[in-house]
Amino acid sequence: MNEDRGHLDPAHQALREMLGALVLGHLTSAETDRVQAHLDGCAACRAELEEITPLAGLLGAVDPASFETPPTPPPGLGDAIRRQVAAERVARDDDELGARRDAARRARGRRTRLVAAAAVLAVVGVGAGLGLGRATAPSPPTVPMEQIRLAAAPGSGVTVDSAGLVNHTWGTELRIVGEGFHAGEVFHAEFRTADGELVPAGEFLGVGAATMTCNLQSAALRDAVTEVVILDEDGSAVASSAL
Ligand SMILES: [Zn+2]
Repeated sequence: MNEDRGHLDPAHQALREMLGALVLGHLTSAETDRVQAHLDGCAACRAELEEITPLAGLLGAVDPASFETPPTPPPGLGDAIRRQVAAERVARDDDELGARRDAARRARGRRTRLVAAAAVLAVVGVGAGLGLGRATAPSPPTVPMEQIRLAAAPGSGVTVDSAGLVNHTWGTELRIVGEGFHAGEVFHAEFRTADGELVPAGEFLGVGAATMTCNLQSAALRDAVTEVVILDEDGSAVASSAL
């Protein structure tokens, strides 16, 4: 039998654990036969048996009633036992190391969150500090908006109060404040880009006479936008701005 495979074999493990009982003469004859049959084909177990056989006399001489405290194995008790104890200790240490690593990971996660929270507090603290040094509380940071002149088409009924573009890394935002966009009608904003193409820049629902503020977004980059056009459902421009 291949010894490495034998060590993984549960039958081998079970029989190996019976070797101690064998040397102490605690096995039934059937069990003894089974162990013996295994020993015939397993060099590892034969070696183990050789190592523990001398211990049988020692173990047999022990009177359990004389133990005041649980015994600890003396160094001379045998390589087999010490190896096994060492192996168990290694396995236990591995578990402890794993548990410690997990705990460290969790602690790192907590620290990261604490650092992030502290950073937020620091920013808030700086803002509050600046506020104390001024007459008024600091206004929230605003993204700079580029005001544009969005002219309503004659006869469209639309009035544009203000319009602006915000240059984002991800594209361009269009902000329109106005009224007179026919209630219930869907309007499309489009950007003309440097190559002459019109690209969708978002759509909105007209609310009639009420003042409407809407923010529309497009993936077109600000540098590429040369014109803003607002189209009604028929595709007619109701407002436009040449930039
Ligand atoms: Zn074996």
